[in-house]
Amino acid sequence: MQKNEKTNLVWFRNDLRTIDNAVLAEACKNGKRVIGLYCFDPRLFELNAYGFKKTEKFRAKFLIESIKDLKLQLNALNIDLLVYHDTPEAVVPKLCETFNVSSIYLQKEWTQEEVDVEIAVKSKLSNIGWHSMYNQFLYHPDDINFEIDNTPQVFTVFRKKLEKYIAIRETIQTKKQSEEYRIDNNTSITSLADLGFEDFQPHPHSAFPFKGGEREALKRLEDYTFNTKKLGVYKKTRNGLVGVDYSSKFSSWLANGSMSARTIYWKVKQFEQEYFKNQSTYWLIFELIWRDYFKYIAMKHRNHIFKLGGILQKDYTWSTNASQIEQWINGETPSDFVNANMIELKETGWMSNRGRQNVASYFAKELELDWRIGASYFESLLIDYDVHSNYGNWMYVAGVGNDPRDRKFNVQLQAERYDTSGTFRRLWLQPSLF
Ligand code: FAD
Repeated sequence: MQKNEKTNLVWFRNDLRTIDNAVLAEACKNGKRVIGLYCFDPRLFELNAYGFKKTEKFRAKFLIESIKDLKLQLNALNIDLLVYHDTPEAVVPKLCETFNVSSIYLQKEWTQEEVDVEIAVKSKLSNIGWHSMYNQFLYHPDDINFEIDNTPQVFTVFRKKLEKYIAIRETIQTKKQSEEYRIDNNTSITSLADLGFEDFQPHPHSAFPFKGGEREALKRLEDYTFNTKKLGVYKKTRNGLVGVDYSSKFSSWLANGSMSARTIYWKVKQFEQEYFKNQSTYWLIFELIWRDYFKYIAMKHRNHIFKLGGILQKDYTWSTNASQIEQWINGETPSDFVNANMIELKETGWMSNRGRQNVASYFAKELELDWRIGASYFESLLIDYDVHSNYGNWMYVAGVGNDPRDRKFNVQLQAERYDTSGTFRRLWLQPSLF
C-alpha cells in the first residue's frame, strides 16, 4: 500500500451489511481507498448498573458470526475489514495515522451511549471529515412530512402520516473497489473466549436456531417469502409461541444491521407482484413501521426513554424487590406462562412477541417492579436487542410510553388463548417430554 494514499474509513456499528448500506456506498463514491473497521468494544461485555452483562453469550455469538460474514462480503468488494477487541477511541486515531484517513463514514445514532463513544473518538481527531448518516429506517427521516420533535405520541397517527404519502427509497448498491487498494490486514476476529464466554450449541428447542450474517439474513428472507410463502399467513400465525415459522424472525438481523428494513420491504412488494397481496403481506410492513416508530420516539424524547417515568414522565411507585426479580428471571413465579417464556429466554436468547408482552406486563404491572430492570435484563439476553425497540416497548407495556390504553395483560387468559393445549408451557417446563 502507498502510505500517502488518502483513505475513507467506514466505522461499522449496527449496520453490518454490504447491501443497501448508505454509509458504505457513500464512502465508496469518491474513488479513494476504502477500509472497514469493527470494534468489539469491551464495555459492551461488562456488567451494567443492575448486575447483568450488557451483552450475554447469545448475542455475542450472533455478532461474531455477523462480523465473519461482513468480512467475507466486504472482501468480495475488495474492501478489507479490520477487527479489534478494543474501544473505538483507542483504535480510530491509530488507524487514521497508519492509513492516512481523510474521512470517516458511520451510521448516525442518537442514544446516549452511542453518542458518547462518537464524542470520545472525535475528541481525539483533527482534520478528518466526519460523515454520519441515517441508515436504519424504512421511512428515511429526510423524507417525512413532520418535524422529528412533532412525532405523534400515538402509533396509528404516525403510521397514517406516512404510509399513504411517503415513498420508500430504493435500496442502494455499492460499487466494487479496485483491487490495488487492498491492504495487509493482519487483524483477526474476536472469539467468544476473548469475550469471556464458553462456546455453546443452540438449544434444540430454540425458535431462533439461526446464525448471524448478511447471507443468513437474505436466506431467511428468501425462505420466509418465496420458498415457503409463510409470509402469506403471517397475520394468522404471528402470535405463535412454538417453532421457527410463526413469525419472520427478521429482528436479530435488523437489529445489528445485517439486513435493512428496505430490503425486506422491496422483497415483500416483489412477492405481492408475483404471487398475491393480502392482509398478511401488508402486516409485515405494518410491523416494520412499528420498528421505525420507536426509532423516531427515541429521537424525539432522547434520554427520557431510559428514565423511570418514561416519556410520559409518570410518577408511579415502583418496587425493586430482589427476590421477585430473581423469580421472574429464573421462571419461578406463580404463573406457568410467564415462567415458560422466561426459561425460553434464558436458554435461547429468544422470546416471541406475545411472550415479551406478557412477561413485561407481569413484571411492571402485576409485580410493579422498576421496568428498567426488566428492560435491562432483556438487553442482556436478547439476540435481537435493539435499543429503540426494547426501551420503547418496555415503556409502552409499563404504561409510561405510547400506549393510549395503558393495559395490563391477564397472563392466565393469555395462556389459555395463545397456548390452549399447553404445548409451549410443557416445552419449557417439562422439556424431557419432547
Ligand atoms: P415479526 O412479527 O415477524 O415482525 C417483523 C419485524 O417487525 C420484526 O423483525 C421487527 O423488526 C418489527 N416489529 C415487530 N413487532 C415490533 C414491535 N412491537 N416493536 C418494534 N418492532 C417490531 N424487538 C426488537 O427487534 N428488539 C428488541 O430489543 C425488542 N424488545 C422488545 C421488548 C418488549 C417488552 C416487547 C413487548 C417487544 C420487543 N420487541 C423487540 C418487539 C418484538 O417483540 C420483536 O421485534 C419481534 O418479536 C421479533 O420477532 P420477528 O422478527 O419474528 O417479528
